[in-house]
Amino acid sequence: AVEARQVHKAFGGLHVLKGVDMTVMPGTVTVILGPSGSGKSTFLRLINQLETLTGGSILVDGELVGFRHVNHHGRDMLQTLTEKEKAVQRSKLGMVFQRFNLFPHMTALENVMEAPIHVGHVDRRQARELAVAELERVGMGDRLDYYPSQLSGGQQQRVAIARALAMKPEIMLFDEPTSALDPELVGEVLNVMRSLAADGMTMIVVTHEIGFAREVADQIVFMDGGVVVEHGGPQIVDHPTEPRFRDFLQHVL
Ligand code: ATP
Ligand code: MG
Repeated sequence: AVEARQVHKAFGGLHVLKGVDMTVMPGTVTVILGPSGSGKSTFLRLINQLETLTGGSILVDGELVGFRHVNHHGRDMLQTLTEKEKAVQRSKLGMVFQRFNLFPHMTALENVMEAPIHVGHVDRRQARELAVAELERVGMGDRLDYYPSQLSGGQQQRVAIARALAMKPEIMLFDEPTSALDPELVGEVLNVMRSLAADGMTMIVVTHEIGFAREVADQIVFMDGGVVVEHGGPQIVDHPTEPRFRDFLQHVL
């Protein structure tokens, strides 16, 4: 599970997250909606430790993210984890970004093998088997030796998903994975995400794809101005109660 409690984040004087609470149960899909600048990416980046919290806490599988409790002269204090300890925590999470971030000089197969070899310390033969299996899972089994420049945006994004899956994450974070794609390529990526959800993957997805949210999400969270304005089951996109959420839906639909 992911449990965020009163999460705050400031960049200098800019207070971006102002007390976000969220619980994501294992095997469920949470879709985060919200206007530009509402803090969605920042929230995902905090879970993945690409940013450091200003206040509050995030637990992944019951473990505090980025910190440990230490007893200092009889007082409970928080100590920052070492980079190595953070990397261990981060390895539980897979992240897919808006831009595909594939290594341009590597084939699809090499892109997916990279992390298992260099971070997971799996041998080359095992890494290859793993990578082929994940590429097949995203429907890219027939493009193993293609370079990113030889693939469509949708295909590149599916390779990026396979690359994240190859590290066997417990939780997948998606930050607008389809918003840089031509409209006709969006569906193939959403289909891969749909099948991951059906396989029981725990997912947090930032997207503007309301149809996907309605169909796949167990929980929908609407953020605006660094707070959760409304949250609930998928039905809330059809029956929003907060005026700000209603306005937002009118603009994206
Ligand atoms: P979008 O829908 O456009 O992706 P978002 O909801 O993901 O928006 P964030 O990217 O989380 O929004 O940004 C929230 C606010 O934090 C914005 O005002 C942004 O400019 C600011 N911000 C994000 N990262 C940084 C940073 N590293 N330094 C300073 N300000 C930042
Ligand atoms: Mg964003």
